[in-house]
Amino acid sequence: MEQSVEAKLESSLPFNPHVASLPAYNAGMNIAAARAASGRHDIARLASNENPDGCSPAVMAALASSAFEPWRYADPACSALRAALGERLRIEPSRIVVGNGSEEMIAAISRALLVPGTSVATVVPSFGLHEIEPLAAGASVVKVPMSASLGFDLDALEQAIAAGPRVVFLSSPWNPVGPGLDSQALERLVSAVRPGTLFVLDEAYFEFADPDAPDGIEVLRESGIAHVVLRTFSKAYGLAGLRVGYAVCSDHEVARVIAAAKTPFNVNAAAQLAAIAALEDEAWMKASVARIRAERLRVAAALEKLGLRLAPSQTNFLFFDCGGDSSALAASLLQEGIIVKAWREKGYECFLRATIGSPAENDRLIQALAQLVPAK
Ligand SMILES: *Cc1c(COP(=O)(O)O)cnc(C)c1O
Repeated sequence: MEQSVEAKLESSLPFNPHVASLPAYNAGMNIAAARAASGRHDIARLASNENPDGCSPAVMAALASSAFEPWRYADPACSALRAALGERLRIEPSRIVVGNGSEEMIAAISRALLVPGTSVATVVPSFGLHEIEPLAAGASVVKVPMSASLGFDLDALEQAIAAGPRVVFLSSPWNPVGPGLDSQALERLVSAVRPGTLFVLDEAYFEFADPDAPDGIEVLRESGIAHVVLRTFSKAYGLAGLRVGYAVCSDHEVARVIAAAKTPFNVNAAAQLAAIAALEDEAWMKASVARIRAERLRVAAALEKLGLRLAPSQTNFLFFDCGGDSSALAASLLQEGIIVKAWREKGYECFLRATIGSPAENDRLIQALAQLVPAK
């Protein structure tokens, strides 16, 4: 039989092998697919760590104002946003690079530093892009497993960092597990960094951390090591759909090369305006974070009562061992209209990550798990 045009095309191109063989990013299910699968309209979206409170009304006002000019190219340098961030963080704006989500900064860092033959150190369970972007650049990735107590294995991490990888990607608070490094642990890891290594601290959940948690920008400021701290407007500020995150770099040269590795008009006009408005309404963000943290304590206590083993969390999600295949449990939750994320990395398939949603969504999760998890 004659081959179809697609089948002939499929094998004909010499793709970049590093990109063609990438694992897929494990994104949360979209709402239309969840409605189709569950037959329910009221979907609780607890898979992507979004903010159940939405975003500040100041953001919506900025987007409705005459300052929003979709027909103009936005400022490729994000000058106004970088100035606002620089003032807030006491950092020269020339050390800040804004990205289309902090995701893009992970890609730009990888593109700026990694070539085949180089290596990256990170943790497992891992944030998918800390592995995918280095692999795309042809680097190899060393993953340090979490400890038996569902925390950072500091000894093993210190060793992996001291081995001199080109880049270290570490999220703290840690997605998907939840704990954060305390000051002492962070300083210990920073001391292990050798010249020639870029230390990337991804603080996507910084705003949700305990009050006594270290501020990575402050700890690294005087460290003398090459570093980047990543922050985002997607989580606590509730702007996931607009895509804005940023890299605070140790020096101008790191910032210059990372900026060179991004696309020129990477952050769109709506995103720039929204981020500035969100930053100015710190009170909204703080109130939202306080509500989410209180809900997290309530949900964690309820799940522990069901006999589930939870990792400690300083984030807006909970990571727990469901005692069996988490994909099966996630499928059952989906039937109830609840989307969560079943972990798929090898050795961690019994873990499930659930975002803290609105109180009503959290009640649904607790009630569904009470039905589905066998009593202990
Ligand atoms: C959500 C998340 C990000 C991505 O944030 P964006 O700014 O939306 O791209 C980056 N790192 C970690 C660890 C995250 O959990």
